[in-house]
Amino acid sequence: MKRFGLGMLGLLVVLAVMGYALRKTITLRLMERLVERNMASSLLDELPDGLHVALCGAGSPLPDPKRSGPCTAVIAGERVYIVDVGAGSSRVLSRMRLPQGKIAAVLLTHFHSDHIDGLGELLMQRWANAGSASPTPVHGPTGVGAVVDGFNLSYRDSQRYRVAHHGADTMPPGGAGAVAHPFAVPAVGEGRIVLERDGLTITAFVVDHSPVRPAVGYRFDFRGRSVVVSGDTKKNTNLQRFAAGVDLLVHEALNPQLVGLLNQGAERAGRPRLVKITHDILDYHTTPVEAAEIARDAGAGYLLYNHIVPPLPLSSMEEIFLDGVAETWSGPVSVGRDGTLVRLPVDSEAIEVDELL
Ligand SMILES: [Zn+2]
Ligand SMILES: [Zn+2]
Repeated sequence: MKRFGLGMLGLLVVLAVMGYALRKTITLRLMERLVERNMASSLLDELPDGLHVALCGAGSPLPDPKRSGPCTAVIAGERVYIVDVGAGSSRVLSRMRLPQGKIAAVLLTHFHSDHIDGLGELLMQRWANAGSASPTPVHGPTGVGAVVDGFNLSYRDSQRYRVAHHGADTMPPGGAGAVAHPFAVPAVGEGRIVLERDGLTITAFVVDHSPVRPAVGYRFDFRGRSVVVSGDTKKNTNLQRFAAGVDLLVHEALNPQLVGLLNQGAERAGRPRLVKITHDILDYHTTPVEAAEIARDAGAGYLLYNHIVPPLPLSSMEEIFLDGVAETWSGPVSVGRDGTLVRLPVDSEAIEVDELL
């Protein structure tokens, strides 16, 4: 028995030495397989026919290792729509294997920097991936034209370099950048149909992110399944109206107790500007409990929190973030992270949630 044990130990040592000696070869083989898998198939190939949401950014301006800047991908059939494009979100789309060449349109809820600061990177990736001959449509309330003009201008030289380097066949010059599709913000109680295509209807409705105006949320309806994306707002009855009976409510949330900790920390550290900012942000967002009230009163099927404030680097903080939610609403909820996927297959009432990353 003792001899057998020594023999096994010897074998393990030999294997470990061989593994170490061959580590580069093994790593290269693994990389080859990974590259092939990622290039040969995409997340779209693995989704059932339906309306699906993948969070390409579940965070806010504050850095959170699990949450990039706000970005919600809504997949309807074969087409991908992106609501807001925060910093890092294009990279999360790639990590989720959601092909940016398939992006049919971008929709902006408002023009706060954290909702647009990933747009340049996403436009570049869509252009490079699709070789599209026409620029990316960017829908948004009045004012979206200035945002799009700014990005187009700042990326102009970079676009020129890429056409010169790869050729116009690979990088068609007409496909770079974006084209704005502004719409007038509808009155409270009214919806503005922003897009209708292949059974999908996207409707914009006004929310309250005062003093930020315009600010809207979007409702997606596709073959009997539905999703509402809140955008940034304080608790809002108009949003609740448009979320009536929705399968999935993707709602922003700020936990005042946890932001209070930041505020007190800034006070103790003698950082008056941070004290002011962490105080001011309380008045134009929704608390997790208020979002649960909306989900309850709208009769939503599932509540997914995104635009999470403050950062929640530890899973145990997610529990504190949700304090009081279970007492408010008995429906299913989760705190979004980069890579959270919710599948809503058509001809079904199923709501399936997964973490892709
Ligand atoms: Zn905002
Ligand atoms: Zn925001």
